[in-house]
Amino acid sequence: MKQFKPYLLLAAAALAAATAAPGRAQENVLNLYSARHYQTDEALYADFTRQTGIRINRIEAGDEALLERLRSEGANSPADVVLLVDAARLWRAQVEGLFQPVKSATLEARIPATLRAKDDGKGAEWFGISTRARVIVYNKRKVDPAQVQNYEDLARPELRGKVCTRSGAHPYMLSLIGAMSEHLGESGAEQWASGVVANFARKPRGGDTDQIRAVATGECGVALTNTYYLVRLMRSDKPADREVVERIGVVWPNQKSFGTHVNVSGAAVARHAPHRETAVRFIEYLASDSAQAYFAGGNNEWPVVSSVKLNNRELESLGPFKADSLPIASVGRAQVTAAKIIDRTGWR
Ligand code: FE
Repeated sequence: MKQFKPYLLLAAAALAAATAAPGRAQENVLNLYSARHYQTDEALYADFTRQTGIRINRIEAGDEALLERLRSEGANSPADVVLLVDAARLWRAQVEGLFQPVKSATLEARIPATLRAKDDGKGAEWFGISTRARVIVYNKRKVDPAQVQNYEDLARPELRGKVCTRSGAHPYMLSLIGAMSEHLGESGAEQWASGVVANFARKPRGGDTDQIRAVATGECGVALTNTYYLVRLMRSDKPADREVVERIGVVWPNQKSFGTHVNVSGAAVARHAPHRETAVRFIEYLASDSAQAYFAGGNNEWPVVSSVKLNNRELESLGPFKADSLPIASVGRAQVTAAKIIDRTGWR
């Protein structure tokens, strides 16, 4: 049996009780499976309930645990909406048939086509609901920013012993390496990846925040991070976090070529959703002005709806940038190539 964390078991018991209650058909509930790992999401869900009277039963777990649960529950799954972060994970769940297509004029009007997956006239299988960019951070004393203006630069011989990343097998890296393979071709991306691996300051370990901290201490000269981790440190009350931010510089990679790699967190209607209409309504809520503003204010992500105003000074201070225009669905698909590249280059 799969091992679940205690909080997941508790939530599962609560959910089982709720779905077993009489009058289930007209129940005003939504069963949400979420792998978003941001505590600040509470307000987002509470607001939906306040606006609609619909209660949310929430199961939160790591993406693997959630997907495993969906697979094993099969047609009996109570899941209505699935929230996952990163195109690599969303695409994998789509391919496994864990979602169903949704046709919604609201979502099509509000979410750019490049941030929806599989729009074949039957609707999308998943929708990007917020975006994040993968940027380069460098130690101001150890690295000349002119040397790290592009992802390709991380393979430059001048950076030997200075590059840190998390494991190439992590979805954030699979998506980036996949995007690189779309731009450079598989062999070009593999050559780049072996150059990066040759420059490692240490074996990949830790998450994005760990990379930023290691750049600040000088253990690493340069690293990659999703922007929300960076902005979280910028907004922190802790002096130690502010100090980290002062020691590092940030680069928007590839501004003179294809643009900075951008990824999404996304939502989908589960294949066997018992409350399908409510599920679509919830995803439409996530694309509403108030929810979209929340993603910026609460978790330092960019809204996917471009007309929504940012309410986050630190996020805004990163300034405008040129984003890679690859459709997010092809970024997700490219992880197959990326996985081969990390195996062959040892980016683990
Ligand atoms: Fe994250």
